[in-house]
Amino acid sequence: MAVKVFDKPDGKVRLDAISADPPKGMTREKAEERFATLGQELFDLQDAMFGSRVNSVMVVLQGRDSAGKDGAIKHVVGCLNPRGVIVTSFGVPTLEERQHDFLWRVHRHAPRLGEFSIFNRSHYEDVLVVRVHGLAPKSVWKERFGHIRDFEELLAEHGTVILKYFLHITKEEQEERLLEREEQPDTAWKLNPNDWKERDHWDEYTGAYEDAISRTAAKHAPWTVVPANAKWYRNLVIAESIVEALRGRRKDWEKTLDEMGKSGRAGLDAYRAQVAAKK
Ligand code: AMP
Ligand code: MG
Repeated sequence: MAVKVFDKPDGKVRLDAISADPPKGMTREKAEERFATLGQELFDLQDAMFGSRVNSVMVVLQGRDSAGKDGAIKHVVGCLNPRGVIVTSFGVPTLEERQHDFLWRVHRHAPRLGEFSIFNRSHYEDVLVVRVHGLAPKSVWKERFGHIRDFEELLAEHGTVILKYFLHITKEEQEERLLEREEQPDTAWKLNPNDWKERDHWDEYTGAYEDAISRTAAKHAPWTVVPANAKWYRNLVIAESIVEALRGRRKDWEKTLDEMGKSGRAGLDAYRAQVAAKK
């Protein structure tokens, strides 16, 4: 599988060595069929998680401009019950956000037990764009890796399943996508000259991503490098990875649901007995 998962600190993450294309033998047809099956499983898992409120999920989507963060959200969220999902996009911090520590705006959107929080960009911007553009001195952003590790550990201790995805595209694929946006009226709203400016910093971003991934990868908060040149494969990899991370917890949730059912029924029985005694 071309997918790479980093689940422990590793100083040797090399994005250039990871393919952005689907593996040989994988076709769009196969991927879409499997995605549909996984989507049903994901829906059922979400239902059990929502009811039992033992865990929550935080999905972090990172990637360069046009890497497919929006598209991935559209497809993955499309498998879920909107009742239990909140999608948050993190753009240039507002004045109020800048007057707080960098995790403040993120922590407020961390999921409640039972819920999914999907982040389009995240606290990682504070060690990516901030680093590449020198928006904070090195002495400041360098410390953030430790703050991020502690923050994610805190969330994990609270029952949050943290899944972080880097949508990996090639420079050629990005060029095609940016040019395509100019042609198509339905994506014209995404046109942003800044995307071309950011492209000039391609290699610096590569280095910043490699550091961010290698310094914050953990068992409880793994990074997956998603080959994202093909949108249909990207969707499949993310769905598969979320389902794999949740499947093993289902028994736990069902046990909790069972206990909830027992205590709910005991309450009902007591109520009915009361009513019957009054008759
Ligand atoms: P988009 O995802 O296209 O809506 O763009 C959001 C922009 O906000 C991107 O250029 C990000 O790099 C930028 N951004 C997000 N978080 C931060 C941050 N903490 N500091 C500076 N810029 C940020
Ligand atoms: Mg953009």
